[in-house]
Amino acid sequence: MKCVIAGAGVAGCIVARALARVPGLEVICLEQVAASDHSESGTGLNVGPNAVRALLEHDPQLHAAVLARSYLWHTWRISLTDGTELFRLPLSQVADNPGIRIRWSELYTALRGEAAGLIRYDTRITAVSRAAANGRLSVEIDASGQPERIDDIDLLVAGDGRYSLVRKLLAGAPPITQHGVVIFRLLVPDTSGGLVDDYEQWFNGPNRLLAFRVPGEAVYIAGTFPIEPGAPVPDSARDGAWLASLYTPHARPPSAQCAWMIEQIRENVDNIHWARLQESPPLYALPDAPVLLLGDAAHGMVPTLGQGATQAIEDACVAARLLEAGLREPHAEVAALITRFAALRDERIRFAMQFSLEASDTLLAGADPVAGTLAKTEPAFLSQLERLYRDITRV
Ligand SMILES: Cc1cc2nc3c(=O)[nH]c(=O)nc-3n(C[C@H](O)[C@H](O)[C@H](O)COP(=O)(O)OP(=O)(O)OC[C@H]3O[C@@H](n4cnc5c(N)ncnc54)[C@H](O)[C@@H]3O)c2cc1C
Repeated sequence: MKCVIAGAGVAGCIVARALARVPGLEVICLEQVAASDHSESGTGLNVGPNAVRALLEHDPQLHAAVLARSYLWHTWRISLTDGTELFRLPLSQVADNPGIRIRWSELYTALRGEAAGLIRYDTRITAVSRAAANGRLSVEIDASGQPERIDDIDLLVAGDGRYSLVRKLLAGAPPITQHGVVIFRLLVPDTSGGLVDDYEQWFNGPNRLLAFRVPGEAVYIAGTFPIEPGAPVPDSARDGAWLASLYTPHARPPSAQCAWMIEQIRENVDNIHWARLQESPPLYALPDAPVLLLGDAAHGMVPTLGQGATQAIEDACVAARLLEAGLREPHAEVAALITRFAALRDERIRFAMQFSLEASDTLLAGADPVAGTLAKTEPAFLSQLERLYRDITRV
């Protein structure tokens, strides 16, 4: 049998490692970037306790490799930009273990390093087709500028991220819902003198900063501000002074933490990575093709609770377990395995998406961050958070 994995990202690498253990299964993981690519475009990630637990249970070696490049995430604190604290949550209250904080490039380095030998870099999928005779798939690829083709694929795992070409070609581009919030991300050298460490957020009206320290003496800063739903990022945002003013409190001076971050934003506006708060509906399987969609290719969720990569890891651990066991069987039923994956994951993913959206209330135009944050100290929110962080999908 032959399995092709589209993308050596978060989900693709985890699945590739597991499938490589199946005797007689040919595993080819295709990645469009070069092996030397260490893009920081995502800059930093907080990965939830649920993914850390899922990875530990599924693949302790990979868990160790990722944790070696991370700092632990123990506490979640929310304040106003003048320093008034609203919320302080030790994660031990709602989770079995800490989450992690990591640079994007380091997460990829750890995952790809542990899948070495299985990944073909500089190899971009450009087309996918299905043979009418036997239902098997073919992919066309651009391998370092040379066109090639891989035929007779029994299983195609789409781990090719939020703009998944596999999903677009086989099921059409997913509808995207915009929620009217700009998100920007920045990684800066840690010159804060210890002001910023574990995961924190700060509000000035609905405009919010988020920051944490990551290995490599750097601080990850993300900011959000409301716009009209569907509107592009405004040109004014590219002006550091304008952007910094969104987070500068009027009545009182900014706290020392926020003064430092506001200065970083002003000085580094040209290095900012822009995005918008958006989501797309889940899709794990196709009715007539042996394709399993994972991670962002399967479900684009709003990043408010840091569940994008987190759920990509959960997806991949479940898929890896199911497929590794199922494909060892002499008459493996690929379609049945894909259906089982969808049945196991659908409710959990819908919950994670809905809860992430509900938790975005304080980022929207006209939001009251004080009332919204205080509501997050109530049992109704904390019990949902506990469900998110503790109830991982087990096969
Ligand atoms: C603003 C923002 C902030 C975020 N913050 C967080 C956070 O703090 N915590 C968190 O958990 N998540 C966060 N996320 C989400 C997270 O980045 C993604 O959910 C996660 O990376 C998805 O993993 P994946 O494996 O599905 O795809 P990816 O990790 O994106 O991997 C896809 C891979 O496929 C490759 N690829 C794509 N197309 C092709 C092709 N045609 N041929 C070959 N290869 C291809 C890509 O190069 C890439 O390596 C954030 C997202 C955004 C937008």
